[in-house]
Amino acid sequence: MNWYFDTDPEFQKQLDWMDSFVTEEIEPIDHVIAHPYDTSDPLRNALIKPLQQQVKDRGLWAAHLGPNLGGLGFGQLKLALMNEILGRSTAAPVVFGCQAPDSGNAEILAHFGSDALKDRYLEPLLAGNIVSCYSMTEPQGGTDPTQFVTRAERDGDEWVINGEKWFSSHARFASFLITIVVTEPDNPPHQRLSAMVVPAESPGFEIIRNTGLAGSSEEHGTHAYVRYNDVRVPADHLLGPRGGGFLVAQTRLGGGRIHHAMRTVARIKWAFDRMCERAISRLTTRGEPLSRQQMVQEMIADSWIEIEQFRLLVLQTAWKIDKYNDYKRVIADISAVKAAMPKVFNNVASRAVQIHGSLGISNEMPFGKMVLESFHMGLADGATEIHKVTAARQLMRRYQPSTELFPPYHLPAVKAAAEKKFAAQIAEYGRN
Ligand SMILES: Cc1cc2nc3c(=O)[nH]c(=O)nc-3n(C[C@H](O)[C@H](O)[C@H](O)COP(=O)(O)OP(=O)(O)OC[C@H]3O[C@@H](n4cnc5c(N)ncnc54)[C@H](O)[C@@H]3O)c2cc1C
Repeated sequence: MNWYFDTDPEFQKQLDWMDSFVTEEIEPIDHVIAHPYDTSDPLRNALIKPLQQQVKDRGLWAAHLGPNLGGLGFGQLKLALMNEILGRSTAAPVVFGCQAPDSGNAEILAHFGSDALKDRYLEPLLAGNIVSCYSMTEPQGGTDPTQFVTRAERDGDEWVINGEKWFSSHARFASFLITIVVTEPDNPPHQRLSAMVVPAESPGFEIIRNTGLAGSSEEHGTHAYVRYNDVRVPADHLLGPRGGGFLVAQTRLGGGRIHHAMRTVARIKWAFDRMCERAISRLTTRGEPLSRQQMVQEMIADSWIEIEQFRLLVLQTAWKIDKYNDYKRVIADISAVKAAMPKVFNNVASRAVQIHGSLGISNEMPFGKMVLESFHMGLADGATEIHKVTAARQLMRRYQPSTELFPPYHLPAVKAAAEKKFAAQIAEYGRN
């Protein structure tokens, strides 16, 4: 019987090292560089590259990938514990070589890329020398990929791509994009799309603008609205089979979603710690600390309960991924994690704002931004509603329909069966 919640002492030592390393070396970087993904920024490179080397030397680099894919193969459970630390900082996942969307894109290239593509893009991506973009969502359709219209047509040894994509995060920093385009328009809806690599320097590839999240300037926007104008890529830039775009997308999204959740655990634990510290520090009316107010106590208790529930769901899902080594068996679990994430994030971040009062909502605290980030988690890699539907459909597949007029658990029938089973005892002892 194995059922415990301890971390291996050896791995705990690595986590303890990571904890101080992130606090002392990485978190301060978040306050002095604009984008940890911008490999053209000399300050970013001067600060981040030596830290990346330390992580490599310590054997903690690119821990999301198994050895067959060029990583260390820590597995998802250990990665979850690592991400509970890394998620505190924007730069930390980059320093540890496991940042989205590059982690998922590396997985796609490792599974479906030709040797030439692996040499050109996977190697430098895994080494942390370049970054990438995943370009799938379109302006007229995000949630439902069957609405996509961006086309790639075969012309000799090349594909010619035309269309627009929306919220192609990090396109401005990327050396290549993985895009999902219609190549088989006459196929059934789920077999029309294919995935392909587009080098960012391809003639005809255009960034219309770098959209930012609410409150940020275009200068700092990283979610590009892009256009492919007769962009030509060689035939071997196709990833997976023609019409297999959904399959390729799922390769990255399964892992990507749970990785977001692991990092979210870090964010909400961070907010929770600040909330508690503020509650015991801030004096309100009659000289009492905030922590004496019952409704403040309720906010603390509710937050802790929700964080613990969410964290255990994330860890258990990570454990199941390692155990089954088959994402198809954990579709419901991952969707449940994905659907739970924005709610707990929003709840905890909102309470952190409230407990800090005017300071909490000001731009001198990160909590308002965290509330917005909770919506990010409810949209990126699929809207919450879709994940709830997925989880529900998966769960209901585990049950058989009853053909009877009343269900098998209808109390009169259950009682009659029990009386039949214990008829001899009832006859001997009678009933009260
Ligand atoms: C911060 C951020 C980063 C992102 N990065 C990327 C990226 O790098 N690459 C990329 O390709 N995309 C990216 N996306 C886009 C993301 O994948 C889409 O936002 C998401 O798929 C939803 O699509 P949409 O925004 O077009 O919403 P829509 O499809 O317009 O849906 C809007 C809303 O309608 C509701 N809804 C839709 N369908 C249903 C349904 N069937 N049942 C019930 N309700 C429904 C939901 O509330 C949903 O939020 C990113 C998004 C965000 C917020």
